Amino acid sequence: MTGIRTRFAPAPSGDLHVGNVRTGLFSWAVARHAGGKFVYRIEDTDATRATDEAFHAAVDVLRWLGIDWDEGPVVGGPHEPYRQSERFEVYAGVVAQLQESGHAYPCFCTPEEITARKAARGDKTPGYDGFCRDRTDHPDGPATMRFRMPEGSTTWDDLVRGDITIDHKDVPDFTIMRSNGHPLYMLAATVDDVLMGMTHIVRGEDLIAATPRQMAMYAAMGVPRESFPAFGHLPLIVGEDSKPLSKRNGEVSIAWYRRNGFLPEAMLNYLALLGWSMPGTDEEVFTVDEMVAAFDVSRVSKNPARFDLKKLEAINGEHIRRLSEGDLAARLLPVLQDAGVLGDVVPEDAHETLRSAIPLVQTRLARLTEAPDLLRFLFAGDAFEVDGAAAAKTLLGETVGSLDAALRALEALPSWDAASIEAALRAALVDGLGLKPKHAFGPLRVAVTGRTISPPLFESMELVGRDVTLARLRSAIVDVRGF
Ligand code: GLU
Repeated sequence: MTGIRTRFAPAPSGDLHVGNVRTGLFSWAVARHAGGKFVYRIEDTDATRATDEAFHAAVDVLRWLGIDWDEGPVVGGPHEPYRQSERFEVYAGVVAQLQESGHAYPCFCTPEEITARKAARGDKTPGYDGFCRDRTDHPDGPATMRFRMPEGSTTWDDLVRGDITIDHKDVPDFTIMRSNGHPLYMLAATVDDVLMGMTHIVRGEDLIAATPRQMAMYAAMGVPRESFPAFGHLPLIVGEDSKPLSKRNGEVSIAWYRRNGFLPEAMLNYLALLGWSMPGTDEEVFTVDEMVAAFDVSRVSKNPARFDLKKLEAINGEHIRRLSEGDLAARLLPVLQDAGVLGDVVPEDAHETLRSAIPLVQTRLARLTEAPDLLRFLFAGDAFEVDGAAAAKTLLGETVGSLDAALRALEALPSWDAASIEAALRAALVDGLGLKPKHAFGPLRVAVTGRTISPPLFESMELVGRDVTLARLRSAIVDVRGF
């Protein structure tokens, strides 16, 4: 055990997205690598955006991924509560102290007044002009609380980006509490990072500008410089168009990836690659345990990380291939149920068919959600239908001869296994009728599986069984003949 403590502190404003979770994963990996503690904190001071539903959805997604926390909502811990909306009196207490020590002051200005004053002076700098800083009268009316930014500059050795210096000329006094007593992010996060003993703050580079503010507040709260947490600011994630990843240029919701057939193993692997790579190897497919064992936040790149769905799919396919057959069957079951391929109650023979089908699809899937279309023919029973477009393209009048020949060859087959089926069909169609394999087997595939894309044909026939295969061939022949 070390004293390392990191945290993941999203605002529960909806789905956790790719950027949030990449941050959470890297923070978690810092703690897990060092045998430290990982804290999950909900930054829900902005009550208009925080809903209980979003809170539960976030917990659900983190559990699905296997990102666990030692302290936080649900599990509790010594710094409870971990939802900022339940900690308002803590922040009020700190604000009172900061005001007492002169680090915070009430501000009576409205945004309009600030803008008007600056316009009159021709001042184009953003932020507050310090009007109430040294004000001794206290007019009636609502007052916000501002933090008095000291003069000078802040320098820190960022774990990712190296030395960063920010001149306080660029950091105007900022609001820490609204006039109605609501704390703002800058206050709540800072207070909690101090009280919860954070040693490393790993977060997105969009928060670099917050760091001098937060460091100034640590000092104002009496934290000695050597006890400040270390900061690491992770690179931006961009889409294919090099613009920040957002709904406009990609799917950002982790829940979407879950619904669309991605494994948690693959998500973690791919999110890790958004800024980090395994040291000493070009290998890009790894387990989260391997990542944690090798993780060092100082290896994270400063350059923007490009989100590439194709690469994520390739990594997902790789993790699908790494699953045991039983595990893949278990993961496909709910996907097949959601797609209506299997019902709520799955009979034992359907379980068995699914297990037998796994070797036929395991190497072919990039997403679990591709399985229903590939496997529907195995479970369709009397409801089996040939896809209309596939039939129109493949089951043409001229195929009737080869379908007939295939039917006769299979009817005569003494045993029903993929190798015998293949030998009989090759003898009848390729050797016998002189057909190219593509023309020989294409129509059979559509007749038996209903689609032009299916698991391997002969294995599929074996699995679906002799009676069903022959019945589907006969029915295709009737359709092709047109009576
Ligand atoms: N709640 C902040 C966010 O979601 C976290 C900021 C921080 O890590 O300090 O962006």
